[in-house]
Amino acid sequence: MKMPPFEYACPTTLSEAVALLASRNGDAKALAGGQSLVPMLAFRLAAPSLLVDLRKLTELRNIRISDNGVALGAMVRWRDIEDEERLARAHPLLKAAVTHVAHYQIRNRGTVGGSIAHADPAAEMPGIAVTCEAEIAVVGKAGARAIKAADFFIGALTTALEPDEVIVEVRLPAWPRQRRWGFEEFARRRGDFAMAAAAVFYDTDEGGKARNVHVGVIGVGDRPLRLAEVEAVLSGRVIDEAVVAKAEVAAAAAVDPQDDIHASAAYRRALVGTMVERALKRAAA
Ligand SMILES: Cc1cc2nc3c(=O)[nH]c(=O)nc-3n(C[C@H](O)[C@H](O)[C@H](O)COP(=O)(O)OP(=O)(O)OC[C@H]3O[C@@H](n4cnc5c(N)ncnc54)[C@H](O)[C@@H]3O)c2cc1C
Repeated sequence: MKMPPFEYACPTTLSEAVALLASRNGDAKALAGGQSLVPMLAFRLAAPSLLVDLRKLTELRNIRISDNGVALGAMVRWRDIEDEERLARAHPLLKAAVTHVAHYQIRNRGTVGGSIAHADPAAEMPGIAVTCEAEIAVVGKAGARAIKAADFFIGALTTALEPDEVIVEVRLPAWPRQRRWGFEEFARRRGDFAMAAAAVFYDTDEGGKARNVHVGVIGVGDRPLRLAEVEAVLSGRVIDEAVVAKAEVAAAAAVDPQDDIHASAAYRRALVGTMVERALKRAAA
């Protein structure tokens, strides 16, 4: 299908990009890798009068790793994350999750900022952002602000981003070396969006009991979810088979998926329990 007509701009500075987005009262869109926006245009699900291409904003392409954590520039591509070997230690959960994003060609163009702004409820990066309590740094005509991931995702394809705001960076808190973690996803075919996936991590005290437990899931709601009920089951416990079994039941009970063309709600609920169970077993091992 042919795309609707639009004007195109390719600014070289962030302030120029913000000014261009602000100039159309919500009728302009940032263009990053185009892997979601271009299909949206082709299907007439979006018809902005102006596309503001961010590709010349090279300052948005950096991956910064420090004692404070990992900061991913908005124009960092999935491929860049795969290729950055330091992330294997600095954020293994992120690295594992990103291997499930789409196919090689899409990973070569799709970006962190595009995924966060697009806010597909089954996308891995928003799930990691919510599970890890990331901050999303944005700049708009009113200035810069940092939005907690928990407040950023409002619903399917809906975020707290203002139309003139550009995501500049996603900041993930520091990752202790001894941390236990697991990421498990089920998709119909490798590279498809997740039918359900679970990200878990926790630290352990001297007695081996779990603390700082984080459990997040995607594909089973209108946004990525943290499952406080499951975290409560796990906190302060040694994560053995019996505790994992309780967590699986709690995860299935905590979500409220809808029937859709891919699966019934009951199937998805069972699936999310299984994903949490497998991710916890991986973490414990
Ligand atoms: C066949 C197929 C399979 C896919 N499978 C998966 C999958 O399994 N998991 C997954 O997570 N994703 C998947 N994707 C999506 C892919 O990961 C995209 O990279 C991602 O959704 C959007 O990134 P993008 O850089 O292409 O953004 P674009 O398509 O360029 O933009 C998407 C949206 O974000 C906005 N935007 C982009 N950058 C910014 C910014 N810096 N600030 C503000 N707004 C911005 C745009 O205006 C637009 O609204 C798939 C895509 C395809 C085509």
